[in-house]
Amino acid sequence: MTSSAGAGEFVERARERILDHAKKRRRAGLTDKLYAVARSETGILYEGVPFETSMPQFNFCAERHAINEMLYAEPGATLDAILVATPAPDETAPPPTPCGACRHAIAEFGDDATVLCTTFVREDDGWTTFPRVERFTATELYPDHQGHPSWE
Ligand SMILES: [Zn+2]
Repeated sequence: MTSSAGAGEFVERARERILDHAKKRRRAGLTDKLYAVARSETGILYEGVPFETSMPQFNFCAERHAINEMLYAEPGATLDAILVATPAPDETAPPPTPCGACRHAIAEFGDDATVLCTTFVREDDGWTTFPRVERFTATELYPDHQGHPSWE
């Protein structure tokens, strides 16, 4: 895979991966989850879902899961883009944006990353995917931050 994949191709590949997993969850009788699909600068994609336990203080979001998958597979990699898809009750729901912790992680591992926020709606016979995709830069979502902490 190469980094030449454009945003349109990235969105299509992310859609396929999210639908594959959503079908598995449906077959298991589960509800939909938020998904994140990260793309490193090499063009490789990494999926994430929220890690949810009975002790919420130890949970973490799909975006950080996907970024950590990237860092595990490609140590030192830079985040090029991340798509965040949230289950929504209908197509008019505005796409939520990442939380503060995820905005920090996105900016730390991809200062120039593109952040695509969208939704998907469960239907009886499938899903309506990505009715609206909102595009941000990492800096737009995390402006004027004080840089990354240094412990030296
Ligand atoms: Zn988050």
